Amino acid sequence: MTDVSTGGASGTGAPDPALDSKIPDGPIADKWENHKFDLKLVNPANKRKFTVIIVGTGLAGAAAAASLGELGYNVKAFCYQDSPRRAHSIAAQGGINAAKNYRNDGDSVHRLFYDTVKGGDYRAREANVHRLAEVSVDIIDQCAAQGVPFAREYGGLLDNRSFGGAQVSRTFYARGQTGQQLLLGAYQALARQIDAGTVEMFSRTEMLDLVMKDGRAVGIVVRDLVTGDVSSHSGHAVVLGTGGYSNAFFLSTNAKGCNVTAAWRAHRKGAYFANPCFTQIHPTCIPASEEFQSKLTLMSESLRNDGRIWVPGDSGDERAAIEIPPDERDYYLERRYPAFGNLVPRDVASRAAKLEVDRGRGVGSKKNGVYLDFADAISRLGRDTIEEKYGNLFQMYERITGEDPYAQPMRIFPALHYTMGGLWVDYDLMSTIPGCYVVGGGKFLRSRRQPPGRVRSHAGPGRRILRPAVHDLRLPGRSAR
Ligand SMILES: Cc1cc2nc3c(=O)[nH]c(=O)nc-3n(C[C@H](O)[C@H](O)[C@H](O)COP(=O)(O)OP(=O)(O)OC[C@H]3O[C@@H](n4cnc5c(N)ncnc54)[C@H](O)[C@@H]3O)c2cc1C
Repeated sequence: MTDVSTGGASGTGAPDPALDSKIPDGPIADKWENHKFDLKLVNPANKRKFTVIIVGTGLAGAAAAASLGELGYNVKAFCYQDSPRRAHSIAAQGGINAAKNYRNDGDSVHRLFYDTVKGGDYRAREANVHRLAEVSVDIIDQCAAQGVPFAREYGGLLDNRSFGGAQVSRTFYARGQTGQQLLLGAYQALARQIDAGTVEMFSRTEMLDLVMKDGRAVGIVVRDLVTGDVSSHSGHAVVLGTGGYSNAFFLSTNAKGCNVTAAWRAHRKGAYFANPCFTQIHPTCIPASEEFQSKLTLMSESLRNDGRIWVPGDSGDERAAIEIPPDERDYYLERRYPAFGNLVPRDVASRAAKLEVDRGRGVGSKKNGVYLDFADAISRLGRDTIEEKYGNLFQMYERITGEDPYAQPMRIFPALHYTMGGLWVDYDLMSTIPGCYVVGGGKFLRSRRQPPGRVRSHAGPGRRILRPAVHDLRLPGRSAR
């Protein structure tokens, strides 16, 4: 694996020319607008002369394929599931951040940018983060127009909730199944293009290799997972929307199918893989119940809006949660971080939970969790309100643990969840292989200013907007816009 910290493959400390981020000039708030204007446009009649290969049809790949198809390009899209609807994006629960400031609580594009850079440990590339904050505002409208049933308030406006690391309420959601609803929206847009003939869809097809010619990506080799046939496809650009690599770690929240094979194969062809340690530990997962478990289940972070995290004050307390009086509980996040309380960033909440369990204050038969308690919220807001907000998550928890979270607190513990490292990309989302682009969870955007080496898991409050930067894609020598 190439060590980008030493300046790339040479290891001499000299800047590696392959790692030119191509960040546009000008003030950060103007870069994206200027860049869009500076890009050369492609004549509508010429667009159909270009073929774009898109591997992966999760939220990133499906949206990219649908958008490029709509623009008039020929798109070939591939996924290994039987349908794009089964991509792991479907598992996303909590929501999608946007600086709409619907709550009038002081949010802005700049604040989302600021929170994201800070939450990302100052490691994200600021220019890309600013673009993310800018387009977050429109992506919500686009999804709503596509029919994504975001939660709404009594007055009909889209509702928001808070997520860790943010002091404003900017997360748009569809109960605890935001990813599923967004994926259905993206899939509908994709299906429309398949019907229109602009996108040719190859499901149950696995990318085996990236085809290179004269140092450029010009196609892929695939295997039909039903017949076993191996074939190749050529294109003017290859886009990888193939997800992250959490499963490289034991007991992650990712489906076992998320196997990072496509990114790995691109890496072997020369795409730099950056900062694989930059991994997020999510604090609200259901603790392991058996030795033979191969993965864990996430309980959405949104639960920390209304759930209070605590452990018994004394280690080794064997009483059931409801038998422990409030003054014998330690609401350790509220105690240590009064400004954020239970909504501290994910890494802070994760470390704190691990510390409590290591101190012997863990709960459950294996003493490997902490409590997430809704009793106060239920008595304040009523069971119906809690059910409306989190009903499917409570149901999922009960099915897995056999415990009723309306009657007793949930048990949670941190687990590997999301990977912020990935294939290195420049501002245009092109990897170090010309013609090979990376969108969604498979990519890594590194800060130019931050020295490498200091790695810790961290939750970026606005970092993971579920969207591909479709408009960022640039075809050889031209722009998609
Ligand atoms: C439990 C859970 C909850 C989450 N909740 C949130 C949330 O609330 N908010 C948020 O912003 N993010 C959340 N995330 C993260 C978010 O879901 C992901 O970042 C995002 O869905 C990634 O989308 P993607 O399109 O990049 O990848 P995926 O959805 O994983 O799609 C990958 C695609 O690539 C294809 N593929 C992979 N390898 C190959 C190959 N070799 N050949 C062919 N096809 C291949 C797959 O078939 C699939 O179509 C959550 C993640 C998990 C696991």
